[in-house]
Amino acid sequence: MASIDFLLQKCKSLSHYKQLQAHLIITGLFRLYTYRSNLLNTCATSASGNLHYAVAIFRKIPLPTTNDWNAIIRGFAHSEKPTNAISLYLDLSRAPQNPDALTCSFALKACARSLARVEATQIHSHLIRFGFELDFLLQTTLLDVYAKTGDLDSARKVFDEMRVKDIVSWNALISGFAQGNRPNEALNLFKRMGLLNMKANDVTVLGALSACSQLGAAKEGEKVYEYIKKQKLDSNTQVCNSVIDMFAKCGSIDKAYHVFKSMPSTKCSITWNTMIMAFAIHGNGFQAIELFELMDREFFRDNITYLAVLSACNHSGLVDFGLNLFNSMKTIGIEPNIKHYGCVVDLLGRAGRLNEAFEIVNSMPIPSDIVLWQTILGACKTYSNVDLAEEASKRLLEMNSKNCGDYVLLSNVYAGQERWGDVGRVRESMKNKDIRKVPGFSYIEVNGTIHKFINGDRVHREWKEIYGKMEEVRNRIREHGYEPEIKYVLHDIGYEEKENALCYHSEKLAVVYGLISTIEGSEIQVIKNLRICGDCHVVIKLISRVYERVIVVRDRTRFHRFKDGACSCKDYW
Ligand code: ZN
Ligand code: ZN
Repeated sequence: MASIDFLLQKCKSLSHYKQLQAHLIITGLFRLYTYRSNLLNTCATSASGNLHYAVAIFRKIPLPTTNDWNAIIRGFAHSEKPTNAISLYLDLSRAPQNPDALTCSFALKACARSLARVEATQIHSHLIRFGFELDFLLQTTLLDVYAKTGDLDSARKVFDEMRVKDIVSWNALISGFAQGNRPNEALNLFKRMGLLNMKANDVTVLGALSACSQLGAAKEGEKVYEYIKKQKLDSNTQVCNSVIDMFAKCGSIDKAYHVFKSMPSTKCSITWNTMIMAFAIHGNGFQAIELFELMDREFFRDNITYLAVLSACNHSGLVDFGLNLFNSMKTIGIEPNIKHYGCVVDLLGRAGRLNEAFEIVNSMPIPSDIVLWQTILGACKTYSNVDLAEEASKRLLEMNSKNCGDYVLLSNVYAGQERWGDVGRVRESMKNKDIRKVPGFSYIEVNGTIHKFINGDRVHREWKEIYGKMEEVRNRIREHGYEPEIKYVLHDIGYEEKENALCYHSEKLAVVYGLISTIEGSEIQVIKNLRICGDCHVVIKLISRVYERVIVVRDRTRFHRFKDGACSCKDYW
């Protein structure tokens, strides 16, 4: 026995395994469970092993034991074909032998790797049937599977049922919520960890930072950063990159740059790209370009760097610089991808150079995509170009785009020209294709609590106060010459109704709530999930002057910093 184990350890190649198996068969030892099982195990799971050969050995066993099954299932769970592990597990659950806790754990790992949600639920029910549901390791694995496959409610349930929760389980749930667009829950869990004196690690803070970025929760983000510094987690480059990104997305570009400059860990190309992108979304085009020039040409710049600078040009209206940069990409060996094309088309489109944008899309060496044509359609709306808008819509239809925004844009182009018949036609086809609007919503953080508003919101507990304040705001900004831009309302309805529909856009509600719930003169920060609309932009500019407030709105693509009646985007977005 000892000598066979010794020989097993020495196996380095398939032929070694074959020789050893032959030896076992000749000497009759193969029939003895221990020898066979050790051979199978090592061959299926060790780095020097060979999974295919292990399967061949396995198939020769007349009545494989659970351990034999485990060896093969474990081997597949870690292989390039984790789904094989799941099907083997299902075979075993129908065989006379029962799976044990190890089998379940390997099969669940395979589910996590292949994102097999349905099968994970099935295995979960087996765990309960076999009485393994309180096994700590199995619970952790199960939690991980649910979090990774996006079944966050089940993940939460497993987590709550765990008697012992270690850092791995906290991290699985926090990352799951952060990646599953439920940032509030991720952040609450992180805070609860603090209350329980649980020590967070780099994985935890990455989840918390991502949650803060999504929510634009500047104050909470600041606290996470303080924690990171205290625990010396800022020696991790990835953590620092996320801190930069978080500050940028929470509106504090100065803090982002400060972290960038004083990073204790080494910068990598992602660090530079993150900072350039941060300047881009804040409309600091020149600073983005300056950083780009500083970047070491040979070691750092990659296609993401170019994307970041192009988007900086985009948000700052640096059309010719961006165009030159785009044309120079090929000469230095970086092939533009669809995102670079998207940026340059956007750049030209916003500047009103629609024909040039059209030409670029038509002469692209790669197939165009829906986003590109949406960009052109958006530009057509801004410049009221009906012909090109119709052409872009035709392409979008061919690509089977089901985005309601496309229809809204086209109908807005028509509405701008008061072509109500065409507006009606577009609306009709929207109904026929069952296309619904993506609901717009906005967040505002007040005293550490995140408030969410949807358009026409009457759910917030202070909605009456907010609507009352809105009346006052409306009257005061009218004295400053405000006229509602009703062309932004899709419906062909009466003037007053249109004005009301505009009045309760989520970003306006959030800003007005900021006015009544924060100290006079303090800055108001709002996050909007879609692009800010033209009317809200005008209104918030006026609010910033009349109420003497700095208001920062992060929309889907960039930051707007409203101060003294003007916006940092210079009305270019
Ligand atoms: Zn609006
Ligand atoms: Zn703006």
